[in-house]
Amino acid sequence: MSEVKATNIHWHEGDLPRDERFKALNAKGATLWFTGLSGSGKSTIASALEQVLVSGGVNSYRLDGDNVRHGLNKNLGFSAEDRTENIRRIGEVAKLFADSGCVSLTSFISPYRADRDLCRTLHDEGKLPFYEVYVDTPLDVCESRDPKGLYKKARAGEIKGFTGIDDPYEAPNSPELVLKTAEHSVEECVKQCLELLASKGIVNVAAGAAR
Ligand code: ADP
Repeated sequence: MSEVKATNIHWHEGDLPRDERFKALNAKGATLWFTGLSGSGKSTIASALEQVLVSGGVNSYRLDGDNVRHGLNKNLGFSAEDRTENIRRIGEVAKLFADSGCVSLTSFISPYRADRDLCRTLHDEGKLPFYEVYVDTPLDVCESRDPKGLYKKARAGEIKGFTGIDDPYEAPNSPELVLKTAEHSVEECVKQCLELLASKGIVNVAAGAAR
């Protein structure tokens, strides 16, 4: 699905170099890629983090699984091929946001390692920071939370190919951050994300204030 179909197209550089944009906006773009099982806490943490960052003056925007499937990716389902294309598009969009000086927060199960690695490569090629955040919550905890009632449906056979039940989740080999939501509160997990961003120079202090 992601084969190149357009020909005779050329990348237009524009007149505003990235470093000038970032300097003028007092911003630094990056992508924080949350991955983990359904119900692990990706959306909850990304949403809380977005609020802290934006209220501290850091431009941040959340790309959320269900939301993106309502629009940009509404023509994609949950087959392996469609999941791959879903993640590839998100990777490209997150990269554009990061290029604009935004801290993009993506919350997608993104179960396949190769798909996440592709998104990392896209960012690497564009010289933009990509940090993988593994929301490491045991399946039984996610299932007991079941915030959208999806595990119940999957167990009843009403949803096929559900990650963790009858579709695999490939945990990251070397994520920049691992969040243990069964042991740490949402606030603590947000703090760990802020510490990562501060340690990488994306925000200037662990409190998440603008640079
Ligand atoms: P996901 O986006 O990974 O599918 P959600 O964020 O939608 O997961 O749901 C996670 C559920 O777990 C929410 O109901 C949230 O309130 C709950 N939860 C409990 N503890 C935590 C925690 N430490 N971090 C994140 N979510 C938590």
